[in-house]
Amino acid sequence: MADHRLVQVDPRLCEAHALCIELAPNVFDLSDDIATVEKSPDPDDSPDVDAAVSACPRQAISWVH
Ligand code: SF4
Repeated sequence: MADHRLVQVDPRLCEAHALCIELAPNVFDLSDDIATVEKSPDPDDSPDVDAAVSACPRQAISWVH
């Protein structure tokens, strides 16, 4: 499963703008004013995660390689 990448949200950066949740609702959720993330998203959702990484105003989302 080489392309099954992991994704993370840095809780120190996240300000709960929730753009990630709009862009990738399968992967992100909001809990206690912080984005939570499905760490090992379905590869089909990777484009949505990429969009969220780009859109996050805090650059809090990153792929873990
Ligand atoms: S878009 Fe960024 S700042 Fe906003 S909830 Fe998602 S991770 Fe947090």
